[in-house]
Amino acid sequence: MSKTATDTGAAVTYSRVMLKISGEALMGDQGFGLHPPTVARIAQEVKSVRDLGVEICMVIGGGNIFRGLQGSAQGMERTTADYMGMLATVMNALAMQSALEEIGVFTRVISAIPMDQVCEPYIRRRAVRHLEKKRVCIFAAGTGNPYFTTDTAATLRASEMACQAIFKGTKVDGVYDKDPKKHADAKRYTNVTYDEVLEKHLGVMDATAIALARDNDLPIIVFSLDEPGGFRGILAGEGTYTRVQG
Ligand code: UDP
Repeated sequence: MSKTATDTGAAVTYSRVMLKISGEALMGDQGFGLHPPTVARIAQEVKSVRDLGVEICMVIGGGNIFRGLQGSAQGMERTTADYMGMLATVMNALAMQSALEEIGVFTRVISAIPMDQVCEPYIRRRAVRHLEKKRVCIFAAGTGNPYFTTDTAATLRASEMACQAIFKGTKVDGVYDKDPKKHADAKRYTNVTYDEVLEKHLGVMDATAIALARDNDLPIIVFSLDEPGGFRGILAGEGTYTRVQG
């Protein structure tokens, strides 16, 4: 079990953060869909940070259910496929909401596409109020526009909510110069600039998201969500991660 912020007494200096996870993070070892024990485990990670008093925004992708590009590759019209992808993110957001409320964390699912019977529409000031009341805000339906990704949605909402950083939870503990699963000599960056990420095509996030983060001076911290206690530790500056900054 890895160390957490309180195990070591290290201080957490963040007061409001964005956690971005891909839809695939919720599917566990299955090839598709939702794996409830995995969703519950990530919910515990979020709770442990919420319990420190940190205000948490979340964006969850939809790739475990549907990706617009896959749909369009199979002959579907691109924008329709993208809307299906956005709807997939709403399902993931509801699954995370359910898992968080199961363990006593108050949440709101806030959708970029209004669907009043299911969740709240996105109203910036209302979302800020939820955060002030320590409710975890799960932003769903991406940006509400086709041709974007949930990485861009996370960057946009993080900027609007004045988050201090985006924490991108992945399957690896940072950004490498080549795929660490295929190359034993792959080197992990501790710090890397937005421009380097773009120039070297490092695959942290898509170019639109990186450019938006750069223009808004929003650091991106890439870490492994597979490490128990990882999210809380990373907030205290512990463990291994890559920090993307200007
Ligand atoms: N999507 C979109 N606009 C957005 C966000 C997402 O059209 O603002 C669609 C797009 O088709 C994308 C899908 O939703 O493929 C799922 O999102 P994403 O691929 O970012 O999910 P992840 O890879 O993080 O699971």
